[in-house]
Amino acid sequence: MTAERSLADIFRRLIATTGPISLTHYMAEANARYYAKADPFGAGGDFVTAPEISQMFGELIGLWLADMWIRAGREEPALYVELGPGRGTLARDALRAMKRYGLEPRVHFVETSIALKELQLHAVPEAQFHPDLSNVPFEGPILLVANEFLDALPLRQLIRTADGWREAMVATEGDRFVAVPGARPMDAALPESRRGEPEGTLIETCPAAAAVIYEVAGRLAQQGGAALFVDYGHAEERTGSTFQAVRRHQKVDPFEAPGEADLTAHVDFAMLAQVAQSRGARWLGTVSQGEWLRALGIEGRAEALSEFAPQHRAALHSAMHRLIDGDQMGELFKVMGLAAPHWPDAVGF
Ligand code: SAH
Repeated sequence: MTAERSLADIFRRLIATTGPISLTHYMAEANARYYAKADPFGAGGDFVTAPEISQMFGELIGLWLADMWIRAGREEPALYVELGPGRGTLARDALRAMKRYGLEPRVHFVETSIALKELQLHAVPEAQFHPDLSNVPFEGPILLVANEFLDALPLRQLIRTADGWREAMVATEGDRFVAVPGARPMDAALPESRRGEPEGTLIETCPAAAAVIYEVAGRLAQQGGAALFVDYGHAEERTGSTFQAVRRHQKVDPFEAPGEADLTAHVDFAMLAQVAQSRGARWLGTVSQGEWLRALGIEGRAEALSEFAPQHRAALHSAMHRLIDGDQMGELFKVMGLAAPHWPDAVGF
């Protein structure tokens, strides 16, 4: 048996044969390979996500969804839909919290990684799996959650060169991968309002994330329901590259070992809110994770858990601070809420 060929080798061969590949292609293939392989989360892995830091994160999301569902009239059957559920920890914690309020939705996971599906099934045995949203049932309101999902979707970068807008491509220089502007004019890929930026400007877009929001918003308008998207990103328009890679808790060069590190980019929540509204969903707001968790009562929850288990008081408080403090995840991470037009106002926005 021959050893599995590295993705870097496959890319080198492809580029040598057909020329530079788009950054979008590079990121899509690299992350598909990365997530197919193993469990990247937790202290022993590459990075730690909020639901792995504390059960409070998933519980408060479950509480928010249950509150929306109850005030919207307790419609059955409700669907809990999660995009990229990781280890299934968030779903498990959220479903436990929802059950306390009489909400026991059917569970649908959108996941492509076979390795992660196995872990998710272990955490939530009743879950049904889908490679994308298209086959999630159309009956019943959807209660949808996506934590650190949009940031992993393939990014497109557009660069203003002396000759106009060009897409960022990946070429090789010896054995190394380097970003270069493509040959084709890409002005049409940008909204007119942004085409006048000066030479050297880099603008990121994520057509895949826009497509997900488009689909979710359409379903909210049609089926009813509410959705939470949590990710690092910005609520205003910006320029410059945020393409990055993380491996074993360190930032590394995203061109160094494709498929071996988690590739991400900041999420453009301003653009996504526009897409959602254009499809008829209600944008509830985009706030910082720290603000949202405080509004949902994380401090009281940490205190209650500490009284119940005093030996964990220090750990509970340090986990809470990691989630909400401005110099930790509290500011950089944002929570965007969407709902059906006829659903009630939400807590936390
Ligand atoms: N939500 C989890 C995991 C975040 S990592 C947590 O917070 O811990 C990103 C997740 O999205 C992984 O489960 C990964 O396998 C999944 N994923 C990445 N790209 C995907 C795609 N295109 N379609 C479906 N799932 C994808």
